[in-house]
Amino acid sequence: MKKEKKPSPVARLLYYAEGYKVLFYIGLALSAVSMVLGMAPYICIWLVMRDLIAVAPNWTLATGIATYGWLAFVFAVGGILVYFAALMCTHLSAFRTAANIRKWGIEHLMKAPLGFFNNNATGLLRNRLDGAAADTETLLAHNLADVVGTVVMFGVMVIMMFVFDWRMGSACLLAAVISIIAIASMMSGKSAEFIADYQAAQDNMSKAGTEYVRGIPVVKVFQQTVYSFRAFKQAIENYSDKAEHFQGTVCRKPQSINLTFTESAFVFLVPVALFLAPEALASGNFAQFLTNFAFYAVFSAIVSTALAKIMFAASGMMLADTALARIEQIMSAPTLKVASLFKMPKDNSIEFNDVSFTYQGSEFPALEHVSFNVKPGQTVALVGPSGGGKTTAASLIPRFWDVTSGSVKVGNVDVKDIDPHVLMEQVAFVFQNSKLFKASIFDNVRISKPNATKEQVEAALEAAQCNDIIAKLPKGMNTIIGTKGTYLSGGEQQRVALARAILKDSSIIVLDEATAFADPENELLIQKALATLTKGRTVLMIAHRLSTVIGADKIIVLDNGRVVEEGTHEQLKDAGKLYSNMWADYNRAVQWRISTEDEVN
Ligand code: ADP
Ligand code: MG
Repeated sequence: MKKEKKPSPVARLLYYAEGYKVLFYIGLALSAVSMVLGMAPYICIWLVMRDLIAVAPNWTLATGIATYGWLAFVFAVGGILVYFAALMCTHLSAFRTAANIRKWGIEHLMKAPLGFFNNNATGLLRNRLDGAAADTETLLAHNLADVVGTVVMFGVMVIMMFVFDWRMGSACLLAAVISIIAIASMMSGKSAEFIADYQAAQDNMSKAGTEYVRGIPVVKVFQQTVYSFRAFKQAIENYSDKAEHFQGTVCRKPQSINLTFTESAFVFLVPVALFLAPEALASGNFAQFLTNFAFYAVFSAIVSTALAKIMFAASGMMLADTALARIEQIMSAPTLKVASLFKMPKDNSIEFNDVSFTYQGSEFPALEHVSFNVKPGQTVALVGPSGGGKTTAASLIPRFWDVTSGSVKVGNVDVKDIDPHVLMEQVAFVFQNSKLFKASIFDNVRISKPNATKEQVEAALEAAQCNDIIAKLPKGMNTIIGTKGTYLSGGEQQRVALARAILKDSSIIVLDEATAFADPENELLIQKALATLTKGRTVLMIAHRLSTVIGADKIIVLDNGRVVEEGTHEQLKDAGKLYSNMWADYNRAVQWRISTEDEVN
């Protein structure tokens, strides 16, 4: 996201509205217009009062009243219609904003250096994105339009103050001003700190609650009570203390003041009127005085509704502010340093040249002087003991991290000199435990190629052996995953991730295989999906199942960050070194599995 200085939260939010920004402003303007229209009936009432009082008690002489009545009606209905139109506009742009936050956020996450994900739980990131997008909706759809309306209303009030009688007008305004000060004092300084505290306690309680729910089976099995979940109990008690303090100390006074004065602008109006009455009588303007008083008496009623809207807007603003912080944390995920002049990869090869890499803060290099290459169309497997550096090596290709020394090349060009978009286009990455977003399967797959047609997505899903997943879901591929009983198993998620990569149709595939021995059914389907994905492409795969590397053109054995062996399966399996041992272990494991399965069956 481009930003030099920090614009206001609203401006930052509207960045996501794109073209709908204009619509949003139109909505605000309409809201202002509707407020003015909504106040016009009060002027009509004033006119009616004036005429009535002027002819009193010969009411029949007041002939203009019906016209004023109709006018008031037209203005009132017009105001409502315009307000409706205003909300249409703001809702449309709010929905677009929320949709874009989700979409861009996901896109950004897709492109962010993978290294970022190692240190940030992706589940948390996704939840944040979802929640934050939802939190911005109310602010944009309702709150701001109401704020604009209210501000306009106060503006009009000030004008009316001068038009009719500034003293009675001030009395009405005074009540409103006191209420606003009370609200402001409730939301600032120490109180604001406390509100943050209070919200933290609430968060804490829901976290402990989740843990508690997860632990219910244990509670049932061991016949324990709620009190065995001390953390949960404490969190509830802490929250209840905070809530009590919040209600009792922080809110009570300002809120009482606020409610008292919003609901009773009369308190000021009546004394002022009483004070002014003798003077009006004496000067012979009593009729006008009465008219004005009647006007303000009716008018003051709308002050409270307007202030209530400001209250809502204030809380909407606070929500949106924290939401924005979360969104921007995601949007500011590290981006890669890019070269000033990009070069295009010349072919589909991958090459590691004397690559060493040390993780930030780590004392030992994760990779040391690693060199190997994958020729176009070849399949090369990285194998080796856990912690050997396989994932690290794969992560250097998409530049999730950049090498400490040496170079990684794709198509004979250093990855640092390749436009990240081109690199991402040319290389598809499928990583262990590929994360799916809380979106439909369709969207989850299409994210890798946003302009893909429905048919293309369907074809990719079919090629990735996902038909059984789609068939069992209530709305097929439009089912939102992660909600109400639509969770996918690890193996199923892996297949959806493969569909994503198949759809992307990149010429190079880097693949960190799912850990050994998914359930046999899934494993078979994953193998089929992999076969489709890798056919005719350059593949670098981190293999945990040695069965998949047998056919590889080359096997690189990484141990402790170094290449210790390199060759085909046939060359390595009896070489008496690390690979031979791994192969023997693997065979024993397979034997064991087959024999236990026999026993079970
Ligand atoms: P493999 O995939 O072969 O199991 P990895 O590439 O994950 O091995 O790890 C290689 C080494 O780098 C290990 O010593 C591991 O502890 C270390 N390592 C991996 N990820 C990180 C990280 N994010 N930060 C620091 N050290 C890491
Ligand atoms: Mg690994």
